[in-house]
Amino acid sequence: MPSPLDTYRIAQEPFYRPSGRETALYEHAYAHRLPMILKGPTGCGKTRFVEYMAWRLGRPLVTLACNEDMTASDLVGRYLLDAAGTAWHDGPLTLAVRHGGICYLDEVVEARQDTTVVIHPLTDARRILPLDKKGEVVRAHPDFQLVVSYNPGYQSSAKDLKPSTRQRFVALDFDYPDAALEAGVVAHEAGIDAGLAQRLVRIAHSSRELKRHGLDEGVSTRMLIYAGILIRDGVSPADSCDMTMTRALTDDPDMAAALRAIIDAHL
Ligand code: ADP
Repeated sequence: MPSPLDTYRIAQEPFYRPSGRETALYEHAYAHRLPMILKGPTGCGKTRFVEYMAWRLGRPLVTLACNEDMTASDLVGRYLLDAAGTAWHDGPLTLAVRHGGICYLDEVVEARQDTTVVIHPLTDARRILPLDKKGEVVRAHPDFQLVVSYNPGYQSSAKDLKPSTRQRFVALDFDYPDAALEAGVVAHEAGIDAGLAQRLVRIAHSSRELKRHGLDEGVSTRMLIYAGILIRDGVSPADSCDMTMTRALTDDPDMAAALRAIIDAHL
């Protein structure tokens, strides 16, 4: 029988290179349907990891990028007017809860706290989702799991995950992979040779040192992949790195000069 989650199934194995025991640990957590936090800097592979795990476990994956304009209704659903009158439409979270998917809330702290409270009753033994507007309480399907991501180094403490929320989850730490692994990922994803990928990774490592000197975020794996794609396309290495790294990371002229010096030294 077709399921409303069929479109959320991942047909092909996503390319994912593990950097530790995260695959086995996730499988243990999923076996008990424990809610999971993936912690780590942006662009380091958290989303790719959850895509890979959903494929491995044969579960549909419903992904939502959180932002401050998101309301509880965007997650759980709402009444909408159609030709037949008003009808309830399950939101993406409700679909995953009802039909047994993995729901991934990316950058969960970006959502307002009055939005994130809806996940609380899903993260303890009750495993329920109250749909207040509809007057229904949905019991989670046995295969449902909630996964959220969060970047500890990024947000202000005002936006930190509340202790009452985070203590409901088990957590895995992510970081940029070590140099050889990261170069392998960049070469594969951008379709560039190993030598160029290694030089790009060296740029990333030096830029990450600048984090201690006023840069909010260093160059991520994702930025390296973008730079590699542009270089492969014939854009000069300097322009590629300027677009994908320097301009994307800072508006400060001195910091931009420091980044360009790093890039020049490695390319
Ligand atoms: P995050 O969710 O942490 O912001 P992503 O999962 O979107 O980051 O990672 C950015 C990109 O980096 C991915 O699209 C993927 O191409 C690549 N990537 C990062 N780490 C890995 C890895 N371990 N294996 C394969 N690809 C990776």
